[in-house]
Amino acid sequence: MHLSADSPTVGVVGGGQLGRMLAEAASPLGVQLVVSDPMPNCPANHVAREQLVGEFDDYDTLRSLAEQVDVLTYEIELADPDTLDAVSEETGTPVHPAPETLRTIQDKLVQNETFAEAGVPLPDFRRVDDADDLRAAGDELGWPVMVKARTGGYDGRGNVPVESPDDAADALAEVGAGGGGAVAEELVDFERELAVIGARGVDETATFPVTETVQREEILRESLSPARTDEATRERAHEVARSVLAELDGRGVFGIELFERERADEANEILLNEVAPRPHNSGHWTIEGCVTSQFEQHVRGVVGLPLGPTRRHGPTASANILGTVSEPARARLAGVEEALALADTHLHWYGKREVRPLRKMGHVTIVGESEPPLSPVRDVVETLQFG
Ligand code: ATP
Ligand code: MG
Repeated sequence: MHLSADSPTVGVVGGGQLGRMLAEAASPLGVQLVVSDPMPNCPANHVAREQLVGEFDDYDTLRSLAEQVDVLTYEIELADPDTLDAVSEETGTPVHPAPETLRTIQDKLVQNETFAEAGVPLPDFRRVDDADDLRAAGDELGWPVMVKARTGGYDGRGNVPVESPDDAADALAEVGAGGGGAVAEELVDFERELAVIGARGVDETATFPVTETVQREEILRESLSPARTDEATRERAHEVARSVLAELDGRGVFGIELFERERADEANEILLNEVAPRPHNSGHWTIEGCVTSQFEQHVRGVVGLPLGPTRRHGPTASANILGTVSEPARARLAGVEEALALADTHLHWYGKREVRPLRKMGHVTIVGESEPPLSPVRDVVETLQFG
């Protein structure tokens, strides 16, 4: 591979905050980004070389994207694997990670089946096509169960815990699983949630230090590393992450979400929750917290450069800035001076025009000294207000 004034160029399907942070990380390597997103002026637009405006599955948009770049990737699971395969074949532009891997991950049932078959530990689950299936699944798995739409869920939308057989029909309606069906999972009584960002390179893999993630209302709020668990459990999380990486195809970064469940007299158990075939919210802390960020790692992997070292600089915590509004409104963040005056604050604002309830608008990271600065990042987020 050579560096020149205008290459290599990566085409990214999706231009949200992940695309924006990818472009920020690509720039020092001399790698340029062209993104495609249906929303003009998407968050990545301001840092990428160019934006094509078009739907994530629009053939003409993806074809034109493929024609002007050296390699294609995606930062959103709504990218369409069939269209990616078609434009890749016609233009000869490779796609990383492989569209086949995206296809597997897009459907939570297929995803669970694939990893279960490969021997990766995960919660017990059942296929659910209607309320009768859900009642039967709950009787077998034990109530309550977690029901998830097979496709299209994100940030906890598309997931609900179901208490009893009486709630089955309502729960299915709520997750909107009418069309695509659902999957019921054993409701894991976890000690904590963990995540490992894993990367696949040309002929190597890498994992980042284990992250602990804190969810409220099924949405990720804070991430911290090291996770507040013991070394044996962290090592087990890496093992499970490596077994997941071995089942995936193509290069790039993957967010591997895990549950840690307590076991009497034994090391805690690690179960796979789900995999994202892209940089992940649980890895935003690596921008300041690690020698190589997850975004740089994705760029390196996709382009075919050697993967970077994943060592942590120090204990790190990040917190999401979520839309604290009750209705959509023009996004205007106040309290920025106060937040930045607090020690060691790194602020990332994604530049979204509209704030919506619980929408991810930005995040804050602090690298600490002896332990992950969880309450300091929470304090920074508290000082930031919309309006
Ligand atoms: P995101 O896009 O935020 O990762 P998602 O909508 O794809 O989320 P999941 O990761 O499957 O959904 O679930 C969101 C959260 O719901 C999990 O992080 C966890 O807190 C909870 N959850 C999901 N599945 C289970 C389960 N089987 N048992 C217990 N809690 C669960
Ligand atoms: Mg998740």
